[in-house]
Amino acid sequence: MESEEKIKPQNFIEEIIEEDLKSGKNDAAVHTRFPPEPNGYLHIGHAKSICLNFGLAAKYGGRCNLRFDDTNPEKEEVEYVDSIMEDVRWLGFQWHDRPYYASDYFGAIYDWAVLLIKKDLAYVCDMSAEEIGATRGTPTEPGKTSPWRDRPADENLDLFARMKKGEFPDGAKVLRAKIGMDSPNMHMRDPVLYRIKRAEHHRTGNDWCIYPMYDFAHGQSDYIEGITHSICTLEFEVHRPLYDWFLDHIAEEGRVRPRQIEFARLNLSYTVMSKRLLLRLVKEGRVSGWDDPRMPTISGLRRRGCTSESIRAFAAIIGVAKRDTVVDMALLEHCIREDLNKRSPRVMGVLNPLKLVIENYPEDRVDGFEIANNQEDPSAGSRRVPFSRVVYIEREDFMEEPPKGFFRLAPGREVRLRGACLITCTGVEKNELGGISELRCTWDPASIGGTASDGRKVKGTLHWVSAAHAVKAEVRLYDRLFTKEDPYETEEGKDFTANMNPDSLKVVTGFIEPHVASSRPGDRFQFERLGYFCVDPDSAAGRLVFNRTITLKDSWAREAKKG
Ligand code: ATP
Ligand code: MG
Repeated sequence: MESEEKIKPQNFIEEIIEEDLKSGKNDAAVHTRFPPEPNGYLHIGHAKSICLNFGLAAKYGGRCNLRFDDTNPEKEEVEYVDSIMEDVRWLGFQWHDRPYYASDYFGAIYDWAVLLIKKDLAYVCDMSAEEIGATRGTPTEPGKTSPWRDRPADENLDLFARMKKGEFPDGAKVLRAKIGMDSPNMHMRDPVLYRIKRAEHHRTGNDWCIYPMYDFAHGQSDYIEGITHSICTLEFEVHRPLYDWFLDHIAEEGRVRPRQIEFARLNLSYTVMSKRLLLRLVKEGRVSGWDDPRMPTISGLRRRGCTSESIRAFAAIIGVAKRDTVVDMALLEHCIREDLNKRSPRVMGVLNPLKLVIENYPEDRVDGFEIANNQEDPSAGSRRVPFSRVVYIEREDFMEEPPKGFFRLAPGREVRLRGACLITCTGVEKNELGGISELRCTWDPASIGGTASDGRKVKGTLHWVSAAHAVKAEVRLYDRLFTKEDPYETEEGKDFTANMNPDSLKVVTGFIEPHVASSRPGDRFQFERLGYFCVDPDSAAGRLVFNRTITLKDSWAREAKKG
């Protein structure tokens, strides 16, 4: 597979890189970066960007930096930095050298601001943020020129130095680029380069009271790091002329100039992906945290039981394109299932138990049936599953008056208990309210393993657990977080939270075969016929908590019909 990948470019970004390599540009080096702003946990969209940037570096024998674009002190936290590093590593990538930080370049960026002032390309403006916003114009009308635009360079140098020293209150002045107020590109209209903001920064503490705007830091950070291909999402296409303008005025001869390439961001149905909105869900307690298994965050997907392999496979399948689309959540779920199918040992667990008493099975007898851990993979081995007189089956697997097409258990009917034996339902016990409290059955002792000695066939195969041996567990059944394909589509006056799925989490007590008793957080299983489950970190000695990662699509009908 690897050599095939190396033969031809897989997408337009690889085409560009290969052209650059052929022309010998940048001494034929490929140096990418993943530049998160540490203002939240990473989500599946970031995973796409991570796989892309680190993947390109790996494919072309280059390097990929992890750089924190930490220019906004107010929203950033060390917790986010740590979580981002953990997530990138977990996805299977190793950054070049060490983590980089845009904040390490505050000195260089400040010096470039001074350089622009000296070249009469920047000025200190006394207008408030509101005034600047109000005078920007519209895409079709030019903005208004600032009354401070013609300050002489000396005065600007003096004022900017005093801004840095802390002589002016927050918001009293800004430094702006002197480009023009009539560009059709609003980002080019004398954009703000620096603002005064007394806020403690997670790395530079209180060293600075002025901070560069993201736009005045991002491109230069790439330049400082010698990034050859600055890959970003489409919304930055309109910022590119500005980044180029900065580099035109500060870049030195002979140094690598980053080439910006934009691709379409990942959008997924049935979820939201903006960190701002995800933060709201966390802050408002609508989820248990950033790593709530319903969140589209990498940490949420990990806790839910997804593997990094499945996320990388998903990123490879969706590829990169130039146009925004919405990817169906079902595709991600498909990748998760495919991968779990290969690696998850099978066990049996009952989530909605119905007691079944086998009347012709002795009270003190216990059998141990050898059952394959994965029927599709003999190398996965087998385990012994205890069987006794009282077993639990799934309540949904019994119907007193079965409709046509229902092949599971019913009065008088014989079915297979997976890997164990054949049983026939001989009676139904009810409680005072008329609900079914237990079933009476008989077993065929000559059907050990689940095959009748006379060759007769049964239509249903049920999963089961021995009541005396089952391990009780808290099982968290997760579903999609939103009920609408497009969560942003709401009635007037409502927001995306109105589309949250009220049934996205159900907690039940499950009875699982004893094999799982010694499992540890992160261990994954397929509960036969129910789905893929993993052990949650909330588990402790004597308390087992499982998360349902994903259901088995159509498994019910398919498995139950197997004769
Ligand atoms: P959000 O809008 O979700 O808050 P962001 O773009 O502000 O995300 P950053 O931390 O700035 O988040 O992003 C780091 C990198 O990840 C950027 O290069 C960005 O383009 C990329 N990225 C962010 N969201 C997506 C996405 N949905 N699909 C692909 N790449 C993304
Ligand atoms: Mg951002």
